[in-house]
Amino acid sequence: MKPYRLMLALIALGAVSMSSAEVSPVLVIHGGAGVIRRDMNPAKEKAVRAALALALRNGYAQLKAGKPALDGVTAAITVLEDDPNFNAGKGAVFTHDGRNELDAAIMDGSSHRAGAVAGVHRVKNPILLARAVMEKSPHVMLAGDGAEQFAKEVGIALVDPSYFRTEERWQQLQKALKEDQEQQPHGDADTAKHFGTVGAVALDAQGHLAAGTSTGGMTDKRWGRIGDSPIIGAGTYANSGCAVSGTGWGEYYIRTVAAHSICMEVTQMRVPLQRAAGEIINQEIPAMGGNGGAIALDADGHVAMPFNTDGMYRGWIGADGVPHVAIYGDENDGTAEPLPAPSDSSAAP
Ligand code: ASP
Repeated sequence: MKPYRLMLALIALGAVSMSSAEVSPVLVIHGGAGVIRRDMNPAKEKAVRAALALALRNGYAQLKAGKPALDGVTAAITVLEDDPNFNAGKGAVFTHDGRNELDAAIMDGSSHRAGAVAGVHRVKNPILLARAVMEKSPHVMLAGDGAEQFAKEVGIALVDPSYFRTEERWQQLQKALKEDQEQQPHGDADTAKHFGTVGAVALDAQGHLAAGTSTGGMTDKRWGRIGDSPIIGAGTYANSGCAVSGTGWGEYYIRTVAAHSICMEVTQMRVPLQRAAGEIINQEIPAMGGNGGAIALDADGHVAMPFNTDGMYRGWIGADGVPHVAIYGDENDGTAEPLPAPSDSSAAP
């Protein structure tokens, strides 16, 4: 038998695997780029660090057990959605009308399948509904009441809207409403304090990537405003070589198609991940007047976590199985390469 025929026969018998060798899983998460150092206190810092570490451990346990990247992403994000310290699920920011309207998206890099929900207000874990949209419907994005009807049909937990309320977020809305009345300009850099979106990107043992993001959007949003988080390519994107989840002033992430732009640089133009992510987040977006951050991961396990606010709740876990968590910009988060400096734009926050 010719050698290649022998190989084909062995593959057919299952004696030789065509799949590449197992890779070491990596999980990266963020809990929003709206950190203002002077607003932090030791108790809040401790609670946030503990929640980030728990999310990393839960998500990584899935990946270590050989589960797909999607499972790592959803396990990590549900922890952060359930924690009132983050602007997603419980603890989401309030709209101008005093409601919580939640957005989420998830994308599987190897298959390019994606699911998203927008403007839901009774779904306990929007990331699980986004995943159900991807896996159990022929659509990519469902919004509002229709999305909640779908949630009922597929057995996703619904809660009373009061579940999402926290006093801290309510007070943030009152402050924003007062600023409205005093006719302070909308969307000034101070808005950054309301960015608390959560997200995760994962690389599984099969070498597949996934990305997910979940948010309450921006405090005081009106008229059914939808941000970047549930828009595939803007706040959330994954392909076979790159996965990104963003957090920040969503309108700018939509206009720069931020997550997709980073991944195209990485997979099409072969730009190193840290440079690609730094260029979009710390140069292109601030040059337009926006701000925020992102987490990014490539198929070789490189991690990037650029941001241009005081801090970004963030963390990653890899081969050593230890959660690495950071909040502030001057904290060592273990991502070695220096990021490009923010551009010298006067419009930058
Ligand atoms: N990007 C989100 C939005 O604009 C806000 C955030 O990141 O916290 O809806």
